[in-house]
Amino acid sequence: MSRATATMTPLLGLDAPALERWFAELGEKPFRARQVSRWLHQRFVDDPVHMTDLARSARERLAAAATIAAPAVIRDTTAADGTRKWLFDVGAGNAVESVYIPEDDRGTLCISSQAGCALDCAFCSTGRQGFNRNLTTAEIVGQLWHANRALLADGIRAPWVEQGRAPITNVVLMGMGEPLANYDNVVPALRLFLDDNAYGLSRRRVTLSTSGLVPAIDRLREACPVALAISLHAGNDPLRDRLVPINRKYPLAQLLAACLRYLDRAPRDFVTFEYVMLDGVNDTTDHAHELAALVRDIPCKFNLIPWNPFPGAAFRTSPRARILAFQKVLMDRGFVTTVRKTRGDDIDAACGQLAGRVQDRTKRHIRMRVAAAATTAH
Ligand code: SAH
Ligand code: SF4
Repeated sequence: MSRATATMTPLLGLDAPALERWFAELGEKPFRARQVSRWLHQRFVDDPVHMTDLARSARERLAAAATIAAPAVIRDTTAADGTRKWLFDVGAGNAVESVYIPEDDRGTLCISSQAGCALDCAFCSTGRQGFNRNLTTAEIVGQLWHANRALLADGIRAPWVEQGRAPITNVVLMGMGEPLANYDNVVPALRLFLDDNAYGLSRRRVTLSTSGLVPAIDRLREACPVALAISLHAGNDPLRDRLVPINRKYPLAQLLAACLRYLDRAPRDFVTFEYVMLDGVNDTTDHAHELAALVRDIPCKFNLIPWNPFPGAAFRTSPRARILAFQKVLMDRGFVTTVRKTRGDDIDAACGQLAGRVQDRTKRHIRMRVAAAATTAH
């Protein structure tokens, strides 16, 4: 990175107050920030030269002081079912992914918040890879910016796009990493997702998934209460301690109490409990009864996730019949319970697959690029 680039501000990472402050320091009027925000996040321009309602001098100052870019795309793959996955280079041999899931009435983007993850859940390939680093706000927002831009450039057809809205209507923080372990960079990104001068999504259309960092759930409730999904995966502490080790620090009673507090401010009147179905581990009807009893006082919905395998993992996916029996117990006890469709299977874009094999390929890819660069340098 050149010295000039190192001191340039990545503009996609500034939420409204930060962009106003930055403009003030540049000697510009604060309302310019709102104008620029719309160019960046609604028209997806990557060069101030296109910001035609700014004075030429302002455009030049912007160009000299700021960068507008998503992380570089290493790979862009589309699955047979239309699911599309971008692999982004975030430096030092690390890569993160975003997955676009098209549906008739919405376009959802699943984004990453960290390169790797420190929380080490037993069944998760991101956890297996360990923690590399937090993504910056610009890298988090850049995923959404890039996806919208790429889909528009490809001429995506959807009724809401024809009405002038962006292709991505829903964002879920369910990619790589634990978003609440990167709170300081994630919250400004959430604010941009909601900001009417940026992406303008409603709080109900932005979902943060967490393995249960209780103090951060409380902070999020005050700062930016978007829809909340909790990775529960077990109905008792000993089992959850094993599957989701952060449970040893914030056990179920504390986590569920935090869910109830969150519901006071949440945009939806329920939390979503995600529950990964692991053959012979947490998937019997007894487990389902235990789970139903545990959450009986919490307005919630369940999303059962068939476990997605990755090489070297010591789990198996529950058989379909067992998943349906589990679902039936929860439904009979009055809980809305869906079974997640696995999308993008043929490109390893399913939940929890966003590292493992990909990371290996990434490393290989980057090694190859480094080798190629070394060869051409001679
Ligand atoms: N760190 C956050 C968000 C990212 S993981 C969290 O844990 O909630 C998003 C979801 O995918 C979580 O519910 C997680 O438990 C689940 N998941 C992880 N690995 C998986 C796998 N191999 N198969 C299916 N779901 C998985
Ligand atoms: Fe981290 Fe979530 Fe994977 Fe657990 S499931 S290791 S919290 S990304």
